[in-house]
Amino acid sequence: MIKDKVVIITGASSGIGEATAKLLASKGAKVVLGARREQKLKQLVDDIQNAGGQAVYQVMDVVNSSDNEAIAKLAKETFGGIDAIFLNAGIMPSSPLSALKTQEWNQTVDINIKGVLNGLAAVLPTFINQKSGHVIATSSVAGLKAYPANAVYGGTKWFVRELMEVLRMESAQEGTNIRTATLYPAAINTELLDEITDSDTAEKMTALYEKHGISADRIASVVAFAIDQPEDTNLSEFTIGPTTQP
Ligand code: NDP
Repeated sequence: MIKDKVVIITGASSGIGEATAKLLASKGAKVVLGARREQKLKQLVDDIQNAGGQAVYQVMDVVNSSDNEAIAKLAKETFGGIDAIFLNAGIMPSSPLSALKTQEWNQTVDINIKGVLNGLAAVLPTFINQKSGHVIATSSVAGLKAYPANAVYGGTKWFVRELMEVLRMESAQEGTNIRTATLYPAAINTELLDEITDSDTAEKMTALYEKHGISADRIASVVAFAIDQPEDTNLSEFTIGPTTQP
């Protein structure tokens, strides 16, 4: 049941995170929104509140563990607890390995791997103590299958898959009742391609998304569906993509 659940969402300033924040808030969740761009977060919180929903934001860089702790603290202080976290912030500056964009490789690892670990670490003690909680994370179809130009990005998304599956198994073994849901989206129209600096890759990806891309609202619906299940039911994996995308 979504109503009154306190849900932290990272990467909430655009795309999948923004769409999910709006949908969950419209269903009565209390959403706590994190990202780096304050103006976007402020506008989103205003929009949600004007529509009658409950939302607050925390400017954060997921790479900093203190920022993740701050958003968890904000959720507790504002809404009295944390029921779920959507570990969604990520970047995809895809390029072939031969382009040697080593700075982008490092940034991708920092945000997509360390950022997810930091977010999990900020809520896990709370979830363990209360013997309930829901961790939802955005992997990618690139976390299920290898694609040229996606070695590093895909690798970070394979990591998310491993992390979430082990979290699910350990939580069941330890009796902490933590639910997990891992999302594997394909082409979803968001700002994700803006990070690509390799012109050939950008051209190919743009053509793919222009042909096939679907709305981020589709992912939001899946997150809402997973959260809405009874506490004893775990929907652990979702692959979501355009019907037309091969
Ligand atoms: P967007 O670029 O629209 O959204 C990415 C979000 O992540 C933004 O809110 C951005 O906010 C935030 N973000 C990026 N870096 C950081 C950081 N260091 N700290 C905090 N927030 C950060 O793209 P999507 O909505 O598509 O991306 C969301 C997730 O979905 C990503 O993990 C992506 O890999 C995944 N995904 C997307 C697919 C697609 O086709 N769109 C397909 C498969 C997976 P800000 O810049 O304000 O910090």
